[in-house]
Amino acid sequence: MAYSEGKIAVITGAGSGIGQALALQLNSEGCALHLSDISSAGLDQTLSLLQRKDVDVNPHPLDVADKAAMHAWAEQIAIQSGHVDIVINNAGVGYAATVEESDYEHQEWLMGINFWGVVYGTQAFLPLLRQSSQGHLVNISSVFGLIGVPTQSAYNAAKFAVRGYTEALRQELDGSNIHVCCVHPGGIKTNIARAARGGDPKMTADDRNNEFEKFARTTAQSAAAQIIRAVEKRRKRLLIGADAKYISLISRLLPVRYTALLPGVARTNPAAVR
Ligand code: NAD
Repeated sequence: MAYSEGKIAVITGAGSGIGQALALQLNSEGCALHLSDISSAGLDQTLSLLQRKDVDVNPHPLDVADKAAMHAWAEQIAIQSGHVDIVINNAGVGYAATVEESDYEHQEWLMGINFWGVVYGTQAFLPLLRQSSQGHLVNISSVFGLIGVPTQSAYNAAKFAVRGYTEALRQELDGSNIHVCCVHPGGIKTNIARAARGGDPKMTADDRNNEFEKFARTTAQSAAAQIIRAVEKRRKRLLIGADAKYISLISRLLPVRYTALLPGVARTNPAAVR
């Protein structure tokens, strides 16, 4: 029997990429799902791909940057289920621009989703995780929460913030019924670069995706499987992909000079969104 069988999971950003792959795998294991995404079309696509129709699935279009909407969703689930067992704050977006070129609107948009969305999802669902016999909170940071990368200042800031927030929370909840995991994926083949804002205006979404795929080595399915295993094993930190493990190692060995060992990633790259 799969660990998640009979459990209830909440996933944000479930309409594409890692979130969609998580939804499909957890559904196949018999885990009931509450799925949200800002894109109703993305959610519909995820629903159409779910294999098991005998397992409960509740889609809920939602902007994770909307604090009131996140809390209303959690309240609705509280009435419906009374508790949740797994919460995965996964929704995220990219923005590529040097600091001098960055505008506030895009930086605030990104922080609203990639940082505040994680904070809202955490605070809104912690009371429901408390009601679980064994709760799991998973926040998705990035390898860009381990190193700084030119043109990624806003994304870096959000992902470093998610890491700090999650590591602090993990210690606060040590010894409680809630296990906390911070995930740092390397390059994962998803739609993140296609949907990203900023970058070279001459590049189309397809161009950005093609550039990104040169670096992204891991599939969303593999990333999701590793996250689900990390939940089962109560891992506190998960690095996904050989690139993530390498970046983690060199950022600790060479905290200033790591850029010298990262050609292609740490150079200015309009498609670099991880
Ligand atoms: P993706 O673009 O395929 O999926 C992201 C999903 O989030 C989309 O369905 C999108 O509609 C949704 N979303 C965007 N804005 C939202 C909002 N305001 N409210 C709710 N949903 C919203 O990308 P992905 O790669 O699967 O990204 C998942 C997470 O993984 C993100 O947090 C991302 O930063 C992180 N990540 C990705 C990579 C990578 O290489 N793909 C690497 C490191 C970290």
